[in-house]
Formats: sequence, structure tokens, C-alpha cells
Amino acid sequence: MPARANGVVDSLEYGIDSTMDAASRLTLLDVEFLSISMEEALHLIGGVIKENSKECVSFINADCLNISSKDEEYRSILNSQSLVLPDGAGISLACRLMGKRLKANLNGTDLLPELCEVARSEGFTVFLLGAAPGVAARMQRNLTDTYPGLKIVGERHGYFDHDDDSNTVIDQINALKPNIVLVAFGAPRQEKWIHKYHQQIDSNILVGVGGLFDFYSGDKKRAPLWMRKSGVEWMYRLYLEPGRLWRRYIIGNPLFMLRMLRWKKSLQRS
Ligand code: UDP
Repeated sequence: MPARANGVVDSLEYGIDSTMDAASRLTLLDVEFLSISMEEALHLIGGVIKENSKECVSFINADCLNISSKDEEYRSILNSQSLVLPDGAGISLACRLMGKRLKANLNGTDLLPELCEVARSEGFTVFLLGAAPGVAARMQRNLTDTYPGLKIVGERHGYFDHDDDSNTVIDQINALKPNIVLVAFGAPRQEKWIHKYHQQIDSNILVGVGGLFDFYSGDKKRAPLWMRKSGVEWMYRLYLEPGRLWRRYIIGNPLFMLRMLRWKKSLQRS
């Protein structure tokens, strides 16, 4: 497999690159990402697989950018990737503050069904890595029931020793050579793991998907559609897990906007 092609967005040939101009690349809090439609994102991912190339995909939300403001390693990993996709109302609001409009909110939870459809019709294989023991297996069952013919070739939970046992996990993945590996360790752990090991992993697309498996396994309920559409899915998550998430949302959301205002001012000064 060729080494990871960092400039895939520029190099793919399916017409999309002509629209991948500066307007498709936005920057917030010094992290660059793509403002593209769901269809374009799927097209890019499909193109990487068909070229037998390799790309790492990350989603960023307000919490991720709060973390990346303080975590230089995470920030530079995000900036080394071609496929960083915006997730959530916070990012959309921040774009508006900068006078830009986000083409689409591309969170992993909405992208997954579309990705499954593409994987099924193109015959792309998928490996699920992450979440608590049993969760990925339940998700695998649910997805193969919903998308008959979808090839989920393997799964493994995410509570192994990431320092000492990653090579064993990678051997398991490489024996199956999946086109797509979904990695659900939460941000930034998953991005750091993917960055550290992507060259060793025999797969085309490595995606960090956060808490996605908990939803698709049926273990956690997703917010009703009207809440998702109104950009307040975070309120539902907070309602379900206040103890774990209050800091992320109650403190994190205003902090993110404050950071944005400061960042905007610093740009205007320079
Ligand atoms: N997780 C994991 N291994 C770890 C730590 C966490 O597999 O060492 C999983 C955890 O079980 C959960 C996901 O990572 O499924 C993190 O979910 P969270 O909602 O925090 O992620 P977010 O979507 O907010 O990034």
C-alpha cells in the first residue's frame, strides 16, 4: 500500500477537486478543516479506497477545539490530515462569527449510515475498534441487520493497553485488511492512536468516531431528530450523562465562544 497521501483532497480525480478551493477549507482556532457536503465527503472517502491510498479522518466539534487549543500534539495531528470534518452546532456558530458559512454538519453519527450504504454497494470492508467490551459486537449485529450484505469483517473493544498491546490489535486488523477502520476511543485519544499507528495498519481509511459505537450498539439513545436538527443534541447528551459531560458542555461551550472571540480579535490585530 502506498504511503499516506497527505494531499488527497487536491489529488483525487472525480471533479470534486475543482470545488476544493480555499472556500472549502476553513480554519478555527488554528485548526484547518473542510467545509464540504456529505456527498463530497463520501466521494473523497470512496476515492481514497478505490485508489488504494490511505487517509486518516477526524471530526472536530467545540470540545475538540477546546482540547486542541491546549494540546499542541493534537492540534498538529489535526493539521497534518487532509480530511478533518466539522461536527456540531458550535463549529457552525463559530464559522458564522468569522463571517463564513459551513456547508454541512458532518458528524460521524449522521455520516455512518451513508458510509454503510456506500460500503455495501461498493463492497468496502469495515473493522470496528473501540468502546467497552461487547459494544462493537452489538453494533456489528445491528449494522449487518440494517444493511444486509455490509461486510463488517471484525471488531475489538477499545480497553486494551494502548501502549503495550496495540501491536496485537494491529495484527488482528491486518489479518483482515479492512478498507475502513472505525476507531472509537474518544478525542483526542483516538486521533493520537491513529496518528501513531496508521502507517502500520493495512487499511485505507482510519476514522476517529468518538462515542459513535455506544449509539449504534443501541446502548445509548440518540437525541430526537428535532433536537439534532436544532443543533442542541449536546443538551440531550448532557441530560443522559450529566456527571461525565457537564464540564464539557456547561463550561466548554461558553469557553469555546470566548476562545473564538479572542482568536478573532488576535487575527484582526495581526
Ligand atoms: N473508549 C475506549 N477506550 C478507552 C477510552 C474510551 O474504547 O481507553 C471509548 C468509550 O467506551 C466510548 C468512547 O471511547 O465509547 C468515547 O466516547 P465519548 O462520548 O467520550 O467520545 P466523544 O464522542 O465525545 O469523542
